[in-house]
Amino acid sequence: MSNITITRTTKSRLSETDYDNLGFGQQFSDHMFQMEYRDGQWRDPAIVPFGDVSISPAALALHYGQSVFEGLKAYRGVDDKVRLFRPDMNYQRLMTSCERLCMPRMDESTFVDALIALTQLEVDWIPRKRGQSFYLRPLMVATEPSLQVRPAEQFMFFIMASPVREFFDENIPAVSLKVEQEFTRAAPGGMGYAKTAGNYAAAINPGQKSIAAGYDQVLWLDGRDHRYVEEVGQMNIFFRFTDRIVTPELRGTILPGITRDSTIALLKERGMPCEERLIDIQEIVDGVKSGELLEAFGTGTAAVIAPVGKLNFNGEDLLVNAGAAGDLSQSLYDELLGIQQGEVEDTHGWTVPVPIETAVAAPA
Ligand SMILES: *Cc1c(COP(=O)(O)O)cnc(C)c1O
Repeated sequence: MSNITITRTTKSRLSETDYDNLGFGQQFSDHMFQMEYRDGQWRDPAIVPFGDVSISPAALALHYGQSVFEGLKAYRGVDDKVRLFRPDMNYQRLMTSCERLCMPRMDESTFVDALIALTQLEVDWIPRKRGQSFYLRPLMVATEPSLQVRPAEQFMFFIMASPVREFFDENIPAVSLKVEQEFTRAAPGGMGYAKTAGNYAAAINPGQKSIAAGYDQVLWLDGRDHRYVEEVGQMNIFFRFTDRIVTPELRGTILPGITRDSTIALLKERGMPCEERLIDIQEIVDGVKSGELLEAFGTGTAAVIAPVGKLNFNGEDLLVNAGAAGDLSQSLYDELLGIQQGEVEDTHGWTVPVPIETAVAAPA
């Protein structure tokens, strides 16, 4: 989209940013993309200095949750090239989320070009350390001031960006999970498949309770029977048994993760096809007890692959792979990160290069 107006900051915060202590989404780059939807059209696409925006306290998003988002990463490769990972999938999912919440569509080129333009402008913010990355967060919110419960007619779309830490680390114990037998993240007919604020709001209190009980995250079961495995925290989940790999099938209550989709494709190519089906929590518990469950891991853009080391079910702690990251988790992480960083050939056309105009030569 060549019509993006760019207003540059007069004071970069880059030199104050400590790349040895990056969190996740705590430091934001100098600029953000924004555009406004009014009178049935997206207008005024612009890149401006990152900062506060003014909206009415009556903005519909604040009251009734008409708010959707996305998340993807730009990586700087070993070859110094910058790549986005599968932004077409983020676009498709954003449109699915928009449809579910009666929010306006946009063209794919508007979405992808905005991601590329912002990444280009912020190229110096993209970390060089392996595993660190530049997280891009698209967000659409209803800004129309009204207390009527109805779809808004005015919206804002933003893309903000944040340099983020690496996650996978053999020295850090695998995540521990409390199997959630009381609360529900999403129910049949709800919005579990949409990336919307409301799903996250529903997860805050159960997440805090699991942390207070000594676990990192919640393993969500289905909302009707509390029996079938759905997701882990804000990630999709995979289980490797001696003779099979399984992941919950998408049936409306699960977020269709792009890392999930990529993992399924890589497993298939390795001749280890993954079954997508209902997974009774009892199958997992039995697998731990018999030793047939070899490893479990979550998948998501932030962590890429997050090995699971412990499950708490019915008050009993069950260790998975002696609490450590498994071989498959490690090798999938290496392969995915390798593709994202340009070390492993991208045979799927998953990466989108971000043209960087001015290569700055290192001082001699
Ligand atoms: C974003 C998200 C995921 C992971 O999706 P990716 O596209 O792999 O990042 C999984 N579950 C939930 C609830 C999510 O919001």
